Amino acid sequence: RVRIVLFTSDLRVHDHPPLRAALNAADAVVPLFVRDRGITATGFPAPNREAFLADCLRDLDEGLRERGGRLVVRSGDVVDEVAKVVSETDARAVHLASGVSAYARRREDRLRDVLEGLGCDLVVHDAVVTCVPPGAVTPAGRDHFAVFTPYHRHWSQHGTRAVVRAPQTVTVPDAVGSEDLPAREDVSGVSPALAEGGERAGRARLTAWLRSGIAGYEDGHDDLAGDVTSRLSPDLHFGTVSPVEAVQRARAAGGPGAEAFVRQLAWRDFHHQVLAARPDAAHDNYRSQDDRWRSEQAAAQEIEAWRQGLTGYPIVDAAMRQLRHEGWMHNRGRLLTACFLTKTLYVDWRVGARHFMDLLVDADVANNQLNWQWMAGTGTDSRPNRVLNPVTQAKRYDPDGAYVRRWVPELAELSGAAIHEPWKLTGLDRAAFDYPDPLLDLSDGLARFKRARGLD
Ligand code: FAD
Repeated sequence: RVRIVLFTSDLRVHDHPPLRAALNAADAVVPLFVRDRGITATGFPAPNREAFLADCLRDLDEGLRERGGRLVVRSGDVVDEVAKVVSETDARAVHLASGVSAYARRREDRLRDVLEGLGCDLVVHDAVVTCVPPGAVTPAGRDHFAVFTPYHRHWSQHGTRAVVRAPQTVTVPDAVGSEDLPAREDVSGVSPALAEGGERAGRARLTAWLRSGIAGYEDGHDDLAGDVTSRLSPDLHFGTVSPVEAVQRARAAGGPGAEAFVRQLAWRDFHHQVLAARPDAAHDNYRSQDDRWRSEQAAAQEIEAWRQGLTGYPIVDAAMRQLRHEGWMHNRGRLLTACFLTKTLYVDWRVGARHFMDLLVDADVANNQLNWQWMAGTGTDSRPNRVLNPVTQAKRYDPDGAYVRRWVPELAELSGAAIHEPWKLTGLDRAAFDYPDPLLDLSDGLARFKRARGLD
């Protein structure tokens, strides 16, 4: 009998418990991906993620074809489409990785209801999208951890499930029709240097990272120009790399970088368990904070300058331009651009989160919204009023100015750390550079923030 595997944020054949369970229980499976109208209607699928997704679906199809199968793609309401495939194949069960967002929860509930009416089971698998399922470790008397350090301790003790081997053979019933697979070339507005998507590319990135990148991670992860982080975030977002496998292979590789890298994967799970417990944190403050952010209208010009990378603060502008060009930004850049928008310009974190959502290939609700809230001081940071000074940060994390020189070519002729403070040039020297003056004085921004938060 047939079983269906509904792929969502788990676009891989390696370490895929739902696929393995379906194959163990059935003669044939339908690996199904639904281009869900419920998601497209929200505007969530921005061009960079659409393009990366197209790569992922093509590669998943190839991975399945190598094993004798193929991917079935449909478009429409996800529950209606699954129900149609159940009726077409008389499937006994649908296997699905559990999700954490409010949308994913509703999808599970709706599927359960509809499938019950069709006499078909829904089998939901944990620890596919995250290493440790939300709710698996909790503090006494609470449904989630609000502080990372104790979460990390419990997370480490909890351990991970065993990695599941990729199947050798996948049999898909001939009669099940599929739409054509989408292609990256059909998506417009994609960042010029967007990474390649798909399980093969993701696994190659993971292998290369474990072989030669991870050793420098502990010391170099904040070095903006060094660019030594794994760049696995899009693979983890689309599930082309399994977080469980990444943790186990990193630990097996060992060395000083391994635990530092695994700790970052725990951060990913941490935000997922916060969102699972508090789905409203996708749009409402996690921690109540009486912020009266400047209105978008009043700050419109400054917001636009921030988006375009024209604030006059070179490190902020470099990071914002990297985002536009690659659909990805270094974590240190994300921290300081988010801080600049929320605390220096005093603009609502939701404005920034929306822009990141529009461009980031790895953007997901848990990591994007909750990291924005962390930096804005409305989230889980235990020091909600910390303000990162972009000049101090630039001198620390881009000491020679190489990162700024890469992304802000107008200033490339400035040598060393002088590139971080072009406003210090005078007269003709300053006029030689076609680069804006700072939007505001940092001390004015800080004073406004302190006043607003009642800290002065
Ligand atoms: P590495 O340093 O190699 O880390 C390995 C993996 O750990 C990452 O791929 C990621 O999955 C996870 N990770 C690392 N740092 C964090 C973190 N702070 N929170 C959660 N997971 C983390 N990450 C996203 O995946 N999607 C987002 O939408 C996102 N938005 C962010 C917005 C802001 C304002 C900030 C400050 C951070 C955001 N991050 C987000 C977290 C982090 O910046 C990225 O995960 C990281 O830069 C990705 O690069 P990497 O894969 O090379 O990371």
